[in-house]
This record gives sequence, C-alpha cells and structure tokens, in this order.
Amino acid sequence: MQQKADYRRELAETAQKICTPGKGILAADESQGTIGKKFVTINVENNEENRRAYRELLFTSPGIENYISGVILFSETVKHATKEGKNFVELLKEKGIIAGIKVDKGLGVIPGTQDESATLGLDSLANMAAEHYKLGCRFAKWRAVLKIGNGLPSQQAIKENAWGLARYAAICQENGLVPIVEPEILADGDHSIDVCQKVTEKVLAAVFKALNENNVFLEGCLLKPNMVTPGSTNSDRSKVTPQEIGYRTALALSRTVPGALVGVTFLSGGQSEEEASLNLNAMNQLTTVRKPWALTFSYGRALQNTAVKTWAGKQENWEAAQQALLTRAKANSEAQLGKYQGGQGGASNESLFVADYKY
Ligand code: 13P
Repeated sequence: MQQKADYRRELAETAQKICTPGKGILAADESQGTIGKKFVTINVENNEENRRAYRELLFTSPGIENYISGVILFSETVKHATKEGKNFVELLKEKGIIAGIKVDKGLGVIPGTQDESATLGLDSLANMAAEHYKLGCRFAKWRAVLKIGNGLPSQQAIKENAWGLARYAAICQENGLVPIVEPEILADGDHSIDVCQKVTEKVLAAVFKALNENNVFLEGCLLKPNMVTPGSTNSDRSKVTPQEIGYRTALALSRTVPGALVGVTFLSGGQSEEEASLNLNAMNQLTTVRKPWALTFSYGRALQNTAVKTWAGKQENWEAAQQALLTRAKANSEAQLGKYQGGQGGASNESLFVADYKY
C-alpha cells in the first residue's frame, strides 16, 4: 500500500494561523443561488462577472488582512482573478490570508424524517479536496443543518449529520485541508434559549464522538457552531442580553468540546451585524466559564450585509462598500479580543434572519 502523506503538522499550523488573536474568517462562499438572493435586493444581475467583481471588492479592501485570517470561497471563485489578472487565492496569500473552500454539495432530505436534512458531497470529496489543495486552499467548510421544533432534531438526524461531518473531516485531513466542522442548528422557531442550549449540547456531543470514531486530528480541526440564542420568533428574543448568549454558548461548548481543539469560529446565523459582534465580545469577556479554545467569527451575512447594500453594483460606491466591510471586520476583530465597545456601523442593527436558510 502506498504511504499516505501526513499533513498533521501543516494542519495544526493552518488552524492556529486562522485563530490568530484578533482575527477571524470572512465567509464569502455563497453558492450561485445564495449570492443571487443578495443581488436581487440591490438590483444586480446574478452573472459570473458580477459575482467576480463583488468578490474582488471584498478581497481588495485595504487593510482587510489586519482583521481577517481566512476567507471561505465557492469553487467558482477559486479560479477567478482581479481585473488586472491576479488570481484571488494568490492575492489573499500575498496578504497573509488563507483561502478555504466550501466542499459540500448542499442538502438532501433524510427519508423517514420530518424533512430533516443530510449534507451531500461525500462521494466526490477526496478528489475535490486534493484538487483544491493543489489550487492553494488550506481549509474547507461543510455545512450540516439541524432544526428545532416538534420533537426535532430527531436522533436519526443528529447521528447522520454527526457521522457525515466526521467522515468529511477525516477525508479533508487526509488531503491537507483543515476541516471546519459546521453543525448549524437553525434559529427558526419559537423555542427558548434553554431548549437551544440543550439541543446544542446534544448535537456537539454527538459530533465530537463521531470525530473521535473517525480518528480526526482535533489540533488540525475547527468547529463552526451556532451561538445559543432563543428561536427567531421567541417572544423573549429581543430581551436576552449578549452576556446571557455569551454565557450559555460558552457553557454548552465547555460541556462538549475537547480542549485539544484549536478554535471555534461562529456562524452569524441571521443575527444582525451588531448583535453578532456584541455576542462574540461578551463571550470573550466572560471569565466564569472555562474556555481553552480561541473563540472567533466566521461570518457571512454579519460581515457583508452593509457592504453589499452600499455597493449596489455601482463602481462609484466601491470604496464606501469596502469601508463598510472593514467597519464590521474591525468590530469583530475587537470582539475576538473582548474589546468591542459597540455602536459601529449605521445599518448594522437590521435582522439578517432568513427562514430555512440555504447556503
Ligand atoms: P452566516 O454567518 O451568514 O450565518 O453564514 C456563515 C456560513 O458560512 C454558513 O455556512
């Protein structure tokens, strides 16, 4: 049997670099359908050139590397370049930012469940991971989705998604990519913060058991969970403080996530830009719960919302849109350090919740 490459040292270095203090991830890996939904709101046609131009705007924001250590890309974007012809992965590398790749193929219904989902793409994953390592990517993302309500998530969905995430993580590591393990529990529903905490603990415990059973190297792996919040239509949602969310989230993690893991890179999950920064900040300020991992951001909507609206597809708005991205990136960088004072960015309180969000 041919000896396989052992990427462990590189995996650990990549994970640690992503978790550099004061830095986090920009999730810019929206599939063509998802980016299309953003473009509709600003009257921009969803064609390849507009998708390329928008990503160029994001990645060339001056000084972005002070706040961002990694960017997740959609496969189409990996091969794109700036107008001058510099490939995006190269451009990011020159800024010291690591490129990552979304490797899942979306969601499919698990038969016999109430429309719960499993993530697609394991069959072709080894090839895709090896190809993207060659193209310069060093980490990957795979999004699994669970729902709360009516007895959900079922044990079947928890098991299936935990196992799928673990199989994905092991395949990525064999091909040199740090896996970001993302078991997203959707905020949809009227459940309380207690219920969200309980479900989050159950799901994370199952995920780490499956990672162990698949021999995943935790020092070269990252977790991307939801924060523990009340459901989107829960009547207490607006009353729960960032301190409560930070505490509940850190507690759920401390009960389930091994200390060998390097970092936790949260998704924003429909929180407003400002909420996502305040909640991360509160978690990093917390001293009453043990937190052996870096706690940082891997936000899509909560980094890009004001930026994409400011751009609106117009060249004359290019710099203002970049400034909008930098404002949120700086806020989250400060939140990672527990030093965010709040109140940056005008439109940043708008809820970004989308029911049954697809990526
Ligand atoms: P949001 O921050 O918009 O939830 O998305 C991040 C992400 O990468 C989800 O897979």
